[in-house]
Amino acid sequence: MSDTQPRPHLPRLHLHDSRTRSTVPFVPLAPDNVRVYYCGPTVYDLAHIGNLRAMLTADVLVRLLRHLYPNVTYVRNITDVDDKINARAHANGESIADLTARTIRDFHEDLAAVSILPPDVEPRATHHIGEMQDMIRSLIESGHAYEAEGHVLFAVNTYPSYGALSGRTPDDLIAGARVEVAPYKRDPGDFVLWKPSDDQTPGWDSPWGRGRPGWHIECSAMSQRYLGESFDIHGGGSDLLFPHHENERAQSMCCHPHGRFANHWVHNAMLLVNGEKMSKSLGNFLTVRDVLRDTPAEALRLLLLRAQYRSVLNFTQEGLDEAKQMLDRFYRALENLDPMQDSVPAPGSVVQVLCDDLNTPRALAEMHALADAAMTGDSRAAAQLKAAGNLIGLLQDTPEAWFRGGAKVDPAHVERLIEERLAARKARDFARADEIRNALAAQGIVLEDGPQGTTWRQA
Ligand SMILES: [Zn+2]
Repeated sequence: MSDTQPRPHLPRLHLHDSRTRSTVPFVPLAPDNVRVYYCGPTVYDLAHIGNLRAMLTADVLVRLLRHLYPNVTYVRNITDVDDKINARAHANGESIADLTARTIRDFHEDLAAVSILPPDVEPRATHHIGEMQDMIRSLIESGHAYEAEGHVLFAVNTYPSYGALSGRTPDDLIAGARVEVAPYKRDPGDFVLWKPSDDQTPGWDSPWGRGRPGWHIECSAMSQRYLGESFDIHGGGSDLLFPHHENERAQSMCCHPHGRFANHWVHNAMLLVNGEKMSKSLGNFLTVRDVLRDTPAEALRLLLLRAQYRSVLNFTQEGLDEAKQMLDRFYRALENLDPMQDSVPAPGSVVQVLCDDLNTPRALAEMHALADAAMTGDSRAAAQLKAAGNLIGLLQDTPEAWFRGGAKVDPAHVERLIEERLAARKARDFARADEIRNALAAQGIVLEDGPQGTTWRQA
């Protein structure tokens, strides 16, 4: 079979495109190599569940593309030079190299825990400074960028389509930024491609003095390096649409006027926690690790898939409990899997709804229908349920391991929670103390308070 066509018996993917603000058939520029770029993490802190939603959206999209097309190249960068990194390393009293290495390791661990597959290429910004400088030089030569007081700035008024991606204008940026405009900018909307570094700050020699790149130029340089001047899909969270993606697009289109940069833009909606925007000041800020401390990773993954990626997702403890119950049900159904049954392809009904702009809630509904059939003893339906799970990265355990996992107890973890409960009681935070008791009870662990302190046993 020729590898140059999409697999003919499969449905065509329809995907929402942020630039045209419409859901359109996805047509790869070259069907023998579908190329995808996602903005990865700035590595100064643990990933939170909002970051996870973007990475998971990419994972489901790439898994589906791999099912539909013979060859997919997925690039997701790491931003390892940024003022937030410099500030955090300083505050922690550790080196930038130690901070970024540890954060990258933690990021990989967290994503692997929720079965997010690694990208094909994971370029680091600091390894591509030369490519960024080449682009900046070319933008200066073509009159799209200018040097001022050790900075190089992109002149937004040289790109007439600026704002077309996000539907916003440079004025919005100024209104949103609420900061004094730097005096060296010709136009308040101009943004930094290169900025000067002092001796304490990471920097590289350049024609414009020792300095470091702005954030936006990184992705333009790395996507071009690994995917070319034109590629199929660029994605990220909706918070990146403006200014980050708008600026990436302006730089790349001005550097390569005959290229298209990204042909299709995918943005996932935000995630709320208990109906509110997640923030450290509200105390509802949740890292992936916070959630995985008390919850099986597949339950977190399933919870995030219960909303289609363009709908705002409200994260709650009840939602997480429901996700775990759904998995209990799926794994019960998988107990009817006939070990002699050959593996089957992902069911067409599930592929079909995923091809409708990644409609994961409908895919889960299809899986429930398969679970119903499997529970009446239909072993083929059980095999199809397993195959559907494989397609979207769920049901990776055996039923045995899943149900045993529910009763798996880490004594050190229980001891830590008992100490935390004791501290909560001392601080008269009885709500938190009860919450810990209930969370442990849900794992089948009973606490007994006595004169010698608190002991525990498995129910
Ligand atoms: Zn980016």
